[in-house]
Amino acid sequence: KSGYGRDGIYRSLRPPVDFPKEPNLSMVSFLLRNVSCYPDKPALFDADSGETLTFSQLKSTVIKLSHGFLKPGISKSDRVLIFAPNSIHFPLCFFAITAIGAIATTANPNYTLNELSKQLKDSNPKLVVTVPELFDKVKDFNIPLISLGSKRNQRGFNTDTAVLLYSSGTTGVSKGVVLTHGNFIASSLMVTKDQELAGDIHRVYLCILPMFHVFGLAVMVYAQVQMGNALVSMAKFEFEMFLRNVEKYRATHLWVVPPVVLAMAKQNVADKFDLSSLKQIGSGAAPLEKELMEECAKKFPQAVVMQGYGMTETCGIISMESPAFGVRHTGSAGLLAPCIEAQIVSTENPKPLPPKQLGEIWVRGPNMMQGYFNNPEATKQTIDEKGWVHTGDLGYFDENGYLYVVDRIKVLIKYKGFQIAPAELEGLLVSHPEILDAVTIPHHWDLTHISPRYRHPDDEAGKVPVAYVFRSTNSSSTKEIFQKFKQVAPFKRLRKVTFRSSFPKPVSGKTLRELKAKIRSKM
Ligand code: AMP
Repeated sequence: KSGYGRDGIYRSLRPPVDFPKEPNLSMVSFLLRNVSCYPDKPALFDADSGETLTFSQLKSTVIKLSHGFLKPGISKSDRVLIFAPNSIHFPLCFFAITAIGAIATTANPNYTLNELSKQLKDSNPKLVVTVPELFDKVKDFNIPLISLGSKRNQRGFNTDTAVLLYSSGTTGVSKGVVLTHGNFIASSLMVTKDQELAGDIHRVYLCILPMFHVFGLAVMVYAQVQMGNALVSMAKFEFEMFLRNVEKYRATHLWVVPPVVLAMAKQNVADKFDLSSLKQIGSGAAPLEKELMEECAKKFPQAVVMQGYGMTETCGIISMESPAFGVRHTGSAGLLAPCIEAQIVSTENPKPLPPKQLGEIWVRGPNMMQGYFNNPEATKQTIDEKGWVHTGDLGYFDENGYLYVVDRIKVLIKYKGFQIAPAELEGLLVSHPEILDAVTIPHHWDLTHISPRYRHPDDEAGKVPVAYVFRSTNSSSTKEIFQKFKQVAPFKRLRKVTFRSSFPKPVSGKTLRELKAKIRSKM
Protein backbone atom coordinates (compact mmCIF):
# COMPACT_ATOMS: atom_id res chain seq x y z
CA LYS A 1 0.00 0.00 0.00
CA SER A 2 2.90 2.34 0.61
CA GLY A 3 4.70 1.30 -2.58
CA TYR A 4 7.66 0.12 -0.47
CA GLY A 5 9.47 -2.86 -2.01
CA ARG A 6 11.74 -5.52 -0.55
CA ASP A 7 14.67 -3.80 -2.23
CA GLY A 8 14.11 -0.72 -0.05
CA ILE A 9 12.74 1.35 -2.96
CA TYR A 10 9.41 3.20 -2.90
CA ARG A 11 7.67 3.09 -6.32
CA SER A 12 4.97 5.49 -7.45
CA LEU A 13 1.39 4.38 -6.83
CA ARG A 14 0.26 6.38 -9.84
CA PRO A 15 -0.20 4.62 -13.20
CA PRO A 16 2.92 4.95 -15.37
CA VAL A 17 3.31 7.52 -18.11
CA ASP A 18 3.69 6.50 -21.73
CA PHE A 19 6.81 8.41 -22.69
CA PRO A 20 7.32 9.09 -26.43
CA LYS A 21 9.65 6.60 -28.08
CA GLU A 22 11.46 8.91 -30.52
CA PRO A 23 15.00 9.24 -29.15
CA ASN A 24 15.64 12.79 -30.30
CA LEU A 25 12.26 14.40 -29.84
CA SER A 26 12.58 18.08 -28.98
CA MET A 27 10.35 19.58 -26.33
CA VAL A 28 8.81 22.08 -28.75
CA SER A 29 8.01 19.45 -31.42
CA PHE A 30 6.34 17.44 -28.69
CA LEU A 31 4.37 20.45 -27.47
CA LEU A 32 3.24 21.57 -30.95
CA ARG A 33 2.18 18.05 -31.83
CA ASN A 34 0.08 17.82 -28.64
CA VAL A 35 -1.73 21.11 -29.10
CA SER A 36 -2.29 20.89 -32.86
CA CYS A 37 -5.88 19.75 -32.25
CA TYR A 38 -6.89 23.05 -30.64
CA PRO A 39 -5.68 25.77 -33.04
CA ASP A 40 -8.23 28.35 -31.95
CA LYS A 41 -8.16 27.75 -28.23
CA PRO A 42 -6.46 30.49 -26.20
CA ALA A 43 -2.99 29.44 -25.10
CA LEU A 44 -1.38 32.50 -23.54
CA PHE A 45 -2.73 35.64 -21.91
CA ASP A 46 -0.67 38.54 -20.63
CA ALA A 47 -2.47 40.04 -17.64
CA ASP A 48 -0.26 43.15 -17.76
CA SER A 49 -0.46 44.09 -21.44
CA GLY A 50 -3.75 42.42 -22.31
CA GLU A 51 -2.20 40.49 -25.23
CA THR A 52 -3.48 36.99 -26.06
CA LEU A 53 -2.40 34.20 -28.38
CA THR A 54 -4.19 31.08 -29.56
CA PHE A 55 -2.32 27.81 -29.98
CA SER A 56 -1.99 28.34 -33.74
CA GLN A 57 -0.64 31.86 -33.17
CA LEU A 58 1.72 30.43 -30.57
CA LYS A 59 3.03 28.01 -33.19
CA SER A 60 3.55 30.62 -35.91
CA THR A 61 5.20 33.04 -33.46
CA VAL A 62 7.59 30.39 -32.14
CA ILE A 63 8.57 29.44 -35.71
CA LYS A 64 9.14 33.10 -36.61
CA LEU A 65 11.16 33.73 -33.48
CA SER A 66 13.28 30.62 -34.05
CA HIS A 67 14.30 31.97 -37.44
CA GLY A 68 15.02 35.27 -35.73
CA PHE A 69 17.41 33.54 -33.32
CA LEU A 70 19.20 31.70 -36.13
CA LYS A 71 19.94 34.94 -37.98
CA PRO A 72 22.47 36.45 -35.53
CA GLY A 73 24.24 33.10 -35.59
CA ILE A 74 22.76 31.35 -32.56
CA SER A 75 23.20 27.66 -33.14
CA LYS A 76 23.01 24.33 -31.38
CA SER A 77 24.31 24.30 -27.83
CA ASP A 78 24.83 28.08 -27.64
CA ARG A 79 23.45 29.48 -24.43
CA VAL A 80 20.84 32.26 -24.57
CA LEU A 81 19.94 34.05 -21.34
CA ILE A 82 16.36 35.17 -20.75
CA PHE A 83 16.67 37.97 -18.22
CA ALA A 84 13.15 39.26 -17.82
CA PRO A 85 10.05 39.33 -15.64
CA ASN A 86 7.05 37.15 -16.53
CA SER A 87 5.20 38.11 -19.69
CA ILE A 88 3.62 36.41 -22.69
CA HIS A 89 6.98 36.80 -24.49
CA PHE A 90 8.92 34.77 -21.94
CA PRO A 91 7.44 31.38 -22.90
CA LEU A 92 7.57 32.26 -26.61
CA CYS A 93 11.32 33.01 -26.48
CA PHE A 94 11.94 30.01 -24.27
CA PHE A 95 10.22 27.72 -26.82
CA ALA A 96 11.99 29.39 -29.78
CA ILE A 97 15.46 29.09 -28.20
CA THR A 98 15.06 25.39 -27.40
CA ALA A 99 13.40 24.74 -30.79
CA ILE A 100 16.66 25.56 -32.61
CA GLY A 101 18.71 23.35 -30.31
CA ALA A 102 20.16 26.24 -28.31
CA ILE A 103 20.14 26.19 -24.51
CA ALA A 104 17.85 28.55 -22.60
CA THR A 105 19.13 29.84 -19.28
CA THR A 106 17.45 32.26 -16.88
CA ALA A 107 18.32 34.69 -14.08
CA ASN A 108 16.30 36.51 -11.45
CA PRO A 109 15.62 40.10 -12.71
CA ASN A 110 16.21 41.32 -9.15
CA TYR A 111 19.82 40.18 -9.27
CA THR A 112 22.47 42.81 -8.69
CA LEU A 113 25.25 43.40 -11.22
CA ASN A 114 27.55 41.32 -9.09
CA GLU A 115 25.23 38.31 -8.92
CA LEU A 116 24.45 38.50 -12.61
CA SER A 117 28.11 38.77 -13.51
CA LYS A 118 28.91 35.52 -11.65
CA GLN A 119 26.16 33.67 -13.46
CA LEU A 120 27.16 35.09 -16.86
CA LYS A 121 30.73 34.01 -16.30
CA ASP A 122 29.58 30.48 -15.58
CA SER A 123 26.99 30.06 -18.34
CA ASN A 124 28.72 32.27 -20.94
CA PRO A 125 25.67 33.10 -23.07
CA LYS A 126 26.01 34.22 -26.69
CA LEU A 127 22.91 36.39 -26.50
CA VAL A 128 20.78 38.02 -23.79
CA VAL A 129 17.04 38.44 -24.25
CA THR A 130 15.84 41.14 -21.91
CA VAL A 131 13.45 44.06 -21.48
CA PRO A 132 14.32 47.78 -21.76
CA GLU A 133 13.98 48.27 -17.98
CA LEU A 134 16.81 45.80 -17.41
CA PHE A 135 19.15 47.08 -20.16
CA ASP A 136 21.28 48.98 -17.66
CA LYS A 137 22.07 45.84 -15.74
CA VAL A 138 23.28 43.87 -18.78
CA LYS A 139 24.63 46.41 -21.24
CA ASP A 140 28.21 46.46 -19.92
CA PHE A 141 28.84 42.75 -20.29
CA ASN A 142 29.45 43.07 -24.04
CA ILE A 143 27.04 40.34 -24.95
CA PRO A 144 24.61 41.02 -27.82
CA LEU A 145 21.18 41.98 -26.50
CA ILE A 146 17.71 41.77 -27.89
CA SER A 147 14.60 43.21 -26.42
CA LEU A 148 11.67 40.97 -25.55
CA GLY A 149 8.37 41.77 -27.12
CA SER A 150 9.65 44.48 -29.40
CA LYS A 151 8.46 43.75 -32.95
CA ARG A 152 11.56 45.41 -34.41
CA ASN A 153 13.79 42.81 -32.85
CA GLN A 154 11.72 39.77 -33.59
CA ARG A 155 13.36 39.50 -36.98
CA GLY A 156 16.78 40.32 -35.61
CA PHE A 157 17.43 37.41 -34.23
CA ASN A 158 18.61 15.81 -28.82
CA THR A 159 17.81 14.71 -26.55
CA ASP A 160 20.11 17.48 -26.11
CA THR A 161 20.51 19.99 -23.36
CA ALA A 162 17.67 22.46 -23.59
CA VAL A 163 17.84 24.49 -20.42
CA LEU A 164 20.33 25.70 -17.84
CA LEU A 165 18.71 26.83 -14.57
CA TYR A 166 20.66 27.94 -11.53
CA SER A 167 20.43 26.30 -8.11
CA SER A 168 22.82 25.92 -5.21
CA GLY A 169 21.82 22.28 -4.74
CA THR A 170 22.81 20.79 -1.42
CA THR A 171 25.86 22.92 -0.77
CA GLY A 172 28.02 25.79 -1.99
CA VAL A 173 27.05 28.54 -4.38
CA SER A 174 24.75 28.60 -7.38
CA LYS A 175 25.44 26.05 -10.14
CA GLY A 176 23.93 25.53 -13.61
CA VAL A 177 21.49 22.60 -13.58
CA VAL A 178 21.63 20.89 -16.97
CA LEU A 179 18.17 19.80 -18.16
CA THR A 180 17.43 18.16 -21.52
CA HIS A 181 14.46 18.21 -23.89
CA GLY A 182 13.71 14.70 -22.58
CA ASN A 183 13.72 15.97 -18.97
CA PHE A 184 11.15 18.64 -19.81
CA ILE A 185 8.95 16.24 -21.80
CA ALA A 186 9.11 13.65 -19.00
CA SER A 187 8.44 16.17 -16.25
CA SER A 188 5.50 17.68 -18.17
CA LEU A 189 3.90 14.26 -18.65
CA MET A 190 4.43 13.37 -15.01
CA VAL A 191 2.96 16.68 -13.82
CA THR A 192 -0.11 16.35 -16.04
CA LYS A 193 -0.82 12.61 -15.70
CA ASP A 194 -3.56 13.19 -13.11
CA GLN A 195 -5.21 15.68 -15.44
CA GLU A 196 -5.10 13.17 -18.26
CA LEU A 197 -6.77 10.60 -15.99
CA ALA A 198 -9.43 13.12 -14.95
CA GLY A 199 -10.02 14.01 -18.62
CA ASP A 200 -10.43 17.68 -17.76
CA ILE A 201 -8.94 19.81 -20.51
CA HIS A 202 -10.17 23.34 -20.01
CA ARG A 203 -7.92 24.63 -17.34
CA VAL A 204 -6.80 28.23 -16.98
CA TYR A 205 -3.58 28.61 -14.99
CA LEU A 206 -2.65 32.00 -13.56
CA CYS A 207 1.14 32.17 -13.42
CA ILE A 208 2.64 34.41 -10.77
CA LEU A 209 5.49 32.00 -10.15
CA PRO A 210 8.61 33.47 -11.71
CA MET A 211 9.27 31.90 -15.10
CA PHE A 212 13.03 32.01 -14.48
CA HIS A 213 12.54 29.33 -11.79
CA VAL A 214 11.87 25.66 -12.55
CA PHE A 215 8.49 25.75 -10.85
CA GLY A 216 7.28 28.50 -13.21
CA LEU A 217 9.11 27.27 -16.32
CA ALA A 218 8.61 23.48 -16.20
CA VAL A 219 5.52 22.93 -14.03
CA MET A 220 3.54 25.94 -15.29
CA VAL A 221 4.78 27.18 -18.68
CA TYR A 222 5.91 24.00 -20.39
CA ALA A 223 3.72 21.35 -18.74
CA GLN A 224 0.49 23.31 -18.96
CA VAL A 225 0.90 24.74 -22.46
CA GLN A 226 1.97 21.32 -23.75
CA MET A 227 -1.24 19.94 -22.23
CA GLY A 228 -3.37 22.49 -24.11
CA ASN A 229 -4.26 24.56 -21.04
CA ALA A 230 -4.37 28.35 -21.09
CA LEU A 231 -1.71 30.26 -19.19
CA VAL A 232 -2.10 33.82 -17.91
CA SER A 233 1.18 35.58 -17.13
CA MET A 234 1.57 38.25 -14.46
CA ALA A 235 4.81 40.19 -14.09
CA LYS A 236 4.62 41.29 -10.47
CA PHE A 237 2.92 39.79 -7.50
CA GLU A 238 0.46 42.26 -6.07
CA PHE A 239 -2.21 40.53 -4.05
CA GLU A 240 -5.33 42.49 -5.10
CA MET A 241 -4.30 42.48 -8.75
CA PHE A 242 -3.69 38.77 -8.54
CA LEU A 243 -7.23 38.20 -7.25
CA ARG A 244 -8.68 40.58 -9.82
CA ASN A 245 -6.99 38.51 -12.54
CA VAL A 246 -8.38 35.27 -11.12
CA GLU A 247 -11.81 36.87 -11.50
CA LYS A 248 -11.14 38.43 -14.92
CA TYR A 249 -9.65 35.34 -16.58
CA ARG A 250 -11.82 32.87 -14.65
CA ALA A 251 -8.64 31.10 -13.54
CA THR A 252 -9.32 27.52 -12.52
CA HIS A 253 -5.89 26.46 -11.26
CA LEU A 254 -3.13 28.14 -9.29
CA TRP A 255 0.34 27.07 -8.30
CA VAL A 256 1.77 29.39 -5.69
CA VAL A 257 4.24 29.47 -2.78
CA PRO A 258 3.16 29.14 0.88
CA PRO A 259 3.08 32.91 1.66
CA VAL A 260 0.37 33.32 -1.01
CA VAL A 261 -1.67 30.48 0.53
CA LEU A 262 -1.27 32.29 3.85
CA ALA A 263 -2.58 35.54 2.39
CA MET A 264 -5.52 33.75 0.76
CA ALA A 265 -6.37 31.99 4.01
CA LYS A 266 -6.06 35.00 6.31
CA GLN A 267 -7.48 37.88 4.32
CA ASN A 268 -11.12 38.37 3.58
CA VAL A 269 -10.79 38.15 -0.15
CA ALA A 270 -13.46 35.71 -1.07
CA ASP A 271 -16.18 38.36 -0.52
CA LYS A 272 -14.39 41.13 -2.46
CA PHE A 273 -13.81 39.22 -5.69
CA ASP A 274 -15.61 36.50 -7.56
CA LEU A 275 -13.19 33.64 -7.13
CA SER A 276 -15.74 30.91 -7.79
CA SER A 277 -13.83 29.71 -10.88
CA LEU A 278 -10.99 28.36 -8.71
CA LYS A 279 -10.83 24.59 -8.63
CA GLN A 280 -7.34 24.05 -7.31
CA ILE A 281 -4.82 25.95 -5.22
CA GLY A 282 -1.49 24.16 -5.34
CA SER A 283 1.50 25.12 -3.23
CA GLY A 284 5.14 24.18 -3.65
CA ALA A 285 8.79 25.32 -3.37
CA ALA A 286 8.69 25.33 0.45
CA PRO A 287 6.76 23.48 3.17
CA LEU A 288 3.05 24.18 3.65
CA GLU A 289 1.68 23.40 7.09
CA LYS A 290 -1.36 21.24 7.67
CA GLU A 291 -3.20 23.99 9.62
CA LEU A 292 -2.71 26.50 6.83
CA MET A 293 -3.96 24.03 4.22
CA GLU A 294 -7.08 23.45 6.30
CA GLU A 295 -7.68 27.15 6.86
CA CYS A 296 -7.34 27.94 3.15
CA ALA A 297 -9.56 25.00 2.20
CA LYS A 298 -12.28 26.36 4.52
CA LYS A 299 -12.13 29.75 2.78
CA PHE A 300 -12.39 28.20 -0.69
CA PRO A 301 -14.66 25.18 -0.26
CA GLN A 302 -15.07 24.73 -4.03
CA ALA A 303 -11.28 24.41 -4.53
CA VAL A 304 -8.83 21.70 -3.66
CA VAL A 305 -5.86 22.90 -1.63
CA MET A 306 -2.89 20.68 -2.27
CA GLN A 307 0.87 20.52 -2.08
CA GLY A 308 3.63 19.47 -4.46
CA TYR A 309 7.33 18.89 -3.92
CA GLY A 310 10.15 19.18 -6.40
CA MET A 311 13.47 20.82 -7.08
CA THR A 312 15.41 22.33 -9.97
CA GLU A 313 17.53 19.16 -10.18
CA THR A 314 14.36 17.07 -10.78
CA CYS A 315 12.95 19.43 -13.41
CA GLY A 316 10.39 20.64 -10.87
CA ILE A 317 8.58 17.50 -9.83
CA ILE A 318 8.95 14.69 -7.29
CA SER A 319 5.55 14.27 -5.66
CA MET A 320 2.15 15.89 -5.38
CA GLU A 321 -1.31 15.36 -4.02
CA SER A 322 -4.20 14.96 -6.38
CA PRO A 323 -7.98 15.15 -6.13
CA ALA A 324 -8.07 11.75 -7.87
CA PHE A 325 -6.20 10.19 -4.97
CA GLY A 326 -8.02 12.12 -2.25
CA VAL A 327 -6.54 15.32 -0.88
CA ARG A 328 -6.32 15.13 2.87
CA HIS A 329 -4.76 18.39 4.08
CA THR A 330 -2.29 16.58 6.23
CA GLY A 331 0.67 18.69 5.26
CA SER A 332 1.90 15.82 3.09
CA ALA A 333 3.67 16.51 -0.20
CA GLY A 334 1.54 13.76 -1.75
CA LEU A 335 2.25 10.56 -3.64
CA LEU A 336 5.28 10.14 -5.86
CA ALA A 337 4.71 11.43 -9.40
CA PRO A 338 4.40 8.64 -11.99
CA CYS A 339 7.59 6.73 -12.78
CA ILE A 340 9.53 8.21 -9.85
CA GLU A 341 11.34 5.91 -7.47
CA ALA A 342 12.45 7.04 -4.04
CA GLN A 343 14.41 5.84 -1.09
CA ILE A 344 14.47 7.16 2.44
CA VAL A 345 18.06 6.72 3.49
CA SER A 346 19.26 6.78 7.05
CA THR A 347 21.53 9.73 7.78
CA GLU A 348 23.75 7.49 9.90
CA ASN A 349 24.48 4.75 7.37
CA PRO A 350 23.35 4.37 3.76
CA LYS A 351 20.46 2.05 4.65
CA PRO A 352 16.99 2.33 3.06
CA LEU A 353 14.21 2.86 5.59
CA PRO A 354 10.63 1.54 5.66
CA PRO A 355 7.51 3.74 6.10
CA LYS A 356 7.31 6.08 9.09
CA GLN A 357 11.07 6.34 9.48
CA LEU A 358 12.85 9.59 8.86
CA GLY A 359 15.86 9.90 6.55
CA GLU A 360 17.24 11.70 3.51
CA ILE A 361 14.99 11.58 0.44
CA TRP A 362 16.69 10.10 -2.64
CA VAL A 363 14.88 10.08 -5.98
CA ARG A 364 15.36 8.60 -9.43
CA GLY A 365 13.41 8.95 -12.68
CA PRO A 366 13.39 10.22 -16.26
CA ASN A 367 13.18 13.85 -15.12
CA MET A 368 16.49 13.97 -13.23
CA MET A 369 19.08 16.54 -14.36
CA GLN A 370 22.14 15.45 -16.32
CA GLY A 371 24.41 17.14 -13.81
CA TYR A 372 25.80 20.55 -12.92
CA PHE A 373 27.24 22.57 -15.80
CA ASN A 374 31.04 22.18 -16.01
CA ASN A 375 31.12 20.86 -12.45
CA PRO A 376 31.71 17.09 -12.28
CA GLU A 377 32.68 17.30 -8.60
CA ALA A 378 29.35 18.80 -7.48
CA THR A 379 27.51 16.45 -9.86
CA LYS A 380 29.12 13.43 -8.25
CA GLN A 381 28.08 14.63 -4.81
CA THR A 382 24.43 14.96 -5.84
CA ILE A 383 23.75 12.11 -8.30
CA ASP A 384 25.29 8.76 -7.46
CA GLU A 385 26.35 6.14 -9.99
CA LYS A 386 22.96 4.42 -9.77
CA GLY A 387 21.17 7.60 -10.80
CA TRP A 388 19.80 8.56 -7.36
CA VAL A 389 19.55 12.29 -6.75
CA HIS A 390 20.33 12.96 -3.08
CA THR A 391 17.88 15.76 -2.36
CA GLY A 392 19.34 17.01 0.92
CA ASP A 393 15.77 17.01 2.26
CA LEU A 394 14.68 15.03 5.28
CA GLY A 395 11.39 13.16 5.13
CA TYR A 396 9.41 9.95 5.44
CA PHE A 397 6.61 8.02 3.75
CA ASP A 398 3.49 6.99 5.65
CA GLU A 399 1.97 3.54 5.24
CA ASN A 400 -0.16 4.80 2.32
CA GLY A 401 2.74 6.06 0.24
CA TYR A 402 2.33 9.76 1.15
CA LEU A 403 5.59 11.64 1.40
CA TYR A 404 6.26 14.15 4.19
CA VAL A 405 9.12 16.63 3.75
CA VAL A 406 10.07 17.50 7.29
CA ASP A 407 13.31 19.45 7.19
CA ARG A 408 16.43 20.17 5.19
CA ILE A 409 19.85 18.72 5.90
CA LYS A 410 21.34 20.62 3.01
CA VAL A 411 22.73 24.05 3.55
CA LEU A 412 20.00 26.12 1.91
CA ILE A 413 17.66 28.86 3.06
CA LYS A 414 14.37 29.43 1.27
CA TYR A 415 12.79 32.87 1.38
CA LYS A 416 9.28 32.90 -0.13
CA GLY A 417 10.37 29.92 -2.24
CA PHE A 418 13.54 31.67 -3.47
CA GLN A 419 16.90 30.07 -2.83
CA ILE A 420 19.48 31.74 -0.62
CA ALA A 421 22.80 29.93 -0.51
CA PRO A 422 24.51 30.48 2.87
CA ALA A 423 27.88 29.90 1.17
CA GLU A 424 27.33 33.00 -0.98
CA LEU A 425 26.54 35.23 2.02
CA GLU A 426 29.39 33.75 4.05
CA GLY A 427 31.75 34.38 1.13
CA LEU A 428 30.70 38.03 1.10
CA LEU A 429 31.16 38.39 4.84
CA VAL A 430 34.63 36.89 4.93
CA SER A 431 35.72 39.10 2.05
CA HIS A 432 35.72 41.84 4.73
CA PRO A 433 39.27 42.08 6.13
CA GLU A 434 38.17 42.13 9.79
CA ILE A 435 35.94 39.10 9.56
CA LEU A 436 37.60 35.83 10.41
CA ASP A 437 34.70 33.62 9.59
CA ALA A 438 30.93 33.59 9.42
CA VAL A 439 28.05 31.19 9.45
CA THR A 440 24.65 31.98 7.99
CA ILE A 441 21.54 30.16 9.15
CA PRO A 442 17.81 30.33 8.49
CA HIS A 443 15.83 32.11 11.17
CA HIS A 444 12.08 32.07 11.68
CA TRP A 445 10.69 35.36 13.00
CA ASP A 446 8.29 34.59 15.79
CA LEU A 447 5.84 37.45 15.41
CA THR A 448 2.72 35.78 16.68
CA HIS A 449 2.56 38.14 19.67
CA ILE A 450 2.94 41.31 17.59
CA SER A 451 -0.08 43.19 16.32
CA PRO A 452 -0.56 42.75 12.53
CA ARG A 453 -0.25 46.54 12.22
CA TYR A 454 3.41 46.38 13.19
CA ARG A 455 4.33 43.27 11.34
CA HIS A 456 7.14 43.21 8.87
CA PRO A 457 6.57 41.93 5.31
CA ASP A 458 9.12 39.21 6.05
CA ASP A 459 6.69 37.79 8.54
CA GLU A 460 5.27 35.60 5.81
CA ALA A 461 8.57 34.64 4.29
CA GLY A 462 9.12 31.34 6.01
CA LYS A 463 12.74 31.82 7.00
CA VAL A 464 15.17 34.72 6.68
CA PRO A 465 18.98 34.63 6.70
CA VAL A 466 20.79 35.70 9.86
CA ALA A 467 24.51 35.39 10.53
CA TYR A 468 26.98 34.70 13.28
CA VAL A 469 30.13 36.60 12.52
CA PHE A 470 33.50 35.94 14.08
CA ARG A 471 35.58 39.08 13.87
CA SER A 472 38.90 40.27 15.14
CA THR A 473 38.60 41.82 18.60
CA ASN A 474 39.50 45.36 17.50
CA SER A 475 36.97 45.42 14.67
CA SER A 476 34.17 47.99 14.77
CA SER A 477 32.83 47.85 11.29
CA THR A 478 29.19 46.82 11.74
CA LYS A 479 27.90 49.33 9.24
CA GLU A 480 30.42 48.38 6.61
CA ILE A 481 29.48 44.76 7.00
CA PHE A 482 25.88 45.52 6.13
CA GLN A 483 27.13 47.64 3.21
CA LYS A 484 28.57 44.48 1.68
CA PHE A 485 25.04 43.31 1.16
CA LYS A 486 24.38 45.91 -1.50
CA GLN A 487 25.99 43.26 -3.70
CA VAL A 488 23.10 40.81 -3.37
CA ALA A 489 19.43 40.97 -4.36
CA PRO A 490 17.23 42.39 -1.57
CA PHE A 491 15.60 39.07 -0.74
CA LYS A 492 18.99 37.61 0.19
CA ARG A 493 20.08 40.37 2.57
CA LEU A 494 20.93 39.45 6.15
CA ARG A 495 18.26 40.47 8.64
CA LYS A 496 20.36 40.12 11.78
CA VAL A 497 24.03 39.69 12.62
CA THR A 498 25.35 38.39 15.92
CA PHE A 499 29.01 39.14 16.52
CA ARG A 500 31.30 36.72 18.28
CA SER A 501 34.83 37.62 19.18
CA SER A 502 35.71 34.70 21.42
CA PHE A 503 36.97 32.69 18.55
CA PRO A 504 38.75 29.46 19.43
CA LYS A 505 42.31 29.76 18.20
CA PRO A 506 44.20 28.38 16.46
CA VAL A 507 41.30 27.24 14.35
CA SER A 508 41.79 24.21 12.26
CA GLY A 509 39.42 23.64 9.34
CA LYS A 510 37.86 20.79 11.24
CA THR A 511 37.12 22.80 14.42
CA LEU A 512 35.51 25.43 12.30
CA ARG A 513 33.33 22.95 10.46
CA GLU A 514 32.26 21.44 13.78
CA LEU A 515 31.50 24.87 15.18
CA LYS A 516 29.37 25.73 12.17
CA ALA A 517 27.55 22.43 12.38
CA LYS A 518 26.84 23.09 16.06
CA ILE A 519 25.39 26.53 15.36
CA ARG A 520 23.36 25.15 12.46
CA SER A 521 22.01 22.28 14.54
CA LYS A 522 20.58 24.81 17.00
CA MET A 523 18.67 26.75 14.34
P1 AMP B 1 14.40 24.70 -5.88
O1 AMP B 1 15.47 23.97 -6.60
O2 AMP B 1 14.63 26.18 -5.78
O3 AMP B 1 13.05 24.37 -6.41
O4 AMP B 1 14.44 24.19 -4.36
C1 AMP B 1 14.16 22.85 -4.06
C2 AMP B 1 13.99 22.69 -2.58
O5 AMP B 1 12.83 23.40 -2.12
C3 AMP B 1 13.72 21.27 -2.17
O6 AMP B 1 14.88 20.47 -2.14
C4 AMP B 1 13.12 21.48 -0.79
O7 AMP B 1 14.10 21.74 0.17
C5 AMP B 1 12.28 22.72 -0.99
N1 AMP B 1 10.88 22.35 -1.28
C6 AMP B 1 10.24 22.33 -2.46
N2 AMP B 1 8.95 21.95 -2.31
C7 AMP B 1 8.77 21.68 -1.00
C8 AMP B 1 7.67 21.24 -0.20
N3 AMP B 1 6.47 21.00 -0.71
N4 AMP B 1 7.88 21.06 1.12
C9 AMP B 1 9.09 21.30 1.68
N5 AMP B 1 10.16 21.73 0.99
C10 AMP B 1 10.01 21.94 -0.33
